[in-house]
Amino acid sequence: MSPSPAALNADLHSHSNVSDGTLDPEALAARAHANGVQLWALTDHDEVAGQQRAAVAAAALGLPYLSGAEVSVTFAGETVHVVGLGFDPADAALRDGLAATRSGRDRRAHDMADGLARAGIPGAYEGALQYVGNPDLISRTHFARFLVDSGICHDTHEVFRRFLTDGKPGYVPHRWAALGDAVRWITAAGGIAVIAHPGRYKFTPNEEYALFSEFKAHGGLGVEVITGSHHPSDYVKYADMAREFGLLASRGSDFHSPDESHTDLGALPLLPGSLTPVWEAVAHRVQRP
Ligand code: AMP
Ligand code: MN
Ligand code: MN
Ligand code: MN
Repeated sequence: MSPSPAALNADLHSHSNVSDGTLDPEALAARAHANGVQLWALTDHDEVAGQQRAAVAAAALGLPYLSGAEVSVTFAGETVHVVGLGFDPADAALRDGLAATRSGRDRRAHDMADGLARAGIPGAYEGALQYVGNPDLISRTHFARFLVDSGICHDTHEVFRRFLTDGKPGYVPHRWAALGDAVRWITAAGGIAVIAHPGRYKFTPNEEYALFSEFKAHGGLGVEVITGSHHPSDYVKYADMAREFGLLASRGSDFHSPDESHTDLGALPLLPGSLTPVWEAVAHRVQRP
């Protein structure tokens, strides 16, 4: 009997310094390969500028690769992330959509710094910028690194809890892409859309049901079941949701940094064998060395 397609060490969610990770795409490819990853995707936030480098580095290592991005979406007043996999990174409409999604980040970062200044932390915009690899992509993570390195907090989780989440001094509400737009950009570029880490959102059961239903109605095909952002109880819950909604299942560490991430590349449980993995649907888009 051949092994279940779910028995693959696929890591389809990770970040480089093209967004808010600390490693460059080449170092990330090397780490994925060293950790035994068998299929990898770089999924920088709202950005495909690292895709070519990631694909070339993966090919040189003999590591099968899928293109990826993690799109920021606003749904029911909350931020939701949608991972796109296996699309054409050169697709013009996708690139325009991602550029539009990124465009408010700099203004938001200035407003965040103003809020922090009012709370007695001056210079946070310039401070965060020191950690930014891509000037288009200043994120809360870069502010978090600045606040840790300046001794104001012990770790990035403390920064988010005290300063960067709803109601805290450095939090600025932001309107990201619409759910349907994000799904269509990815799908029209030949890829599949996947709900990222559903266990992280603060939705009521009704709102969560609406997210899954509307995502499906827009043409979304997958959901992350095994992710570094999920507790083991979420694995069970979202495996059930994948079955209920007829969604393909994805797996990814959401790795950002050797110093910050508790889940390393490829270091996750396998997908349950009873689920259909997303890589079945995009097998023809895998770049094989
Ligand atoms: P942004 O896109 O600028 O809102 O930043 C979101 C990023 O912040 C996420 O992709 C995570 O990398 C990071 N993040 C969000 N919440 C937390 C948290 N509680 N602890 C550490 N990092 C977080
Ligand atoms: Mn991130
Ligand atoms: Mn995310
Ligand atoms: Mn992520």
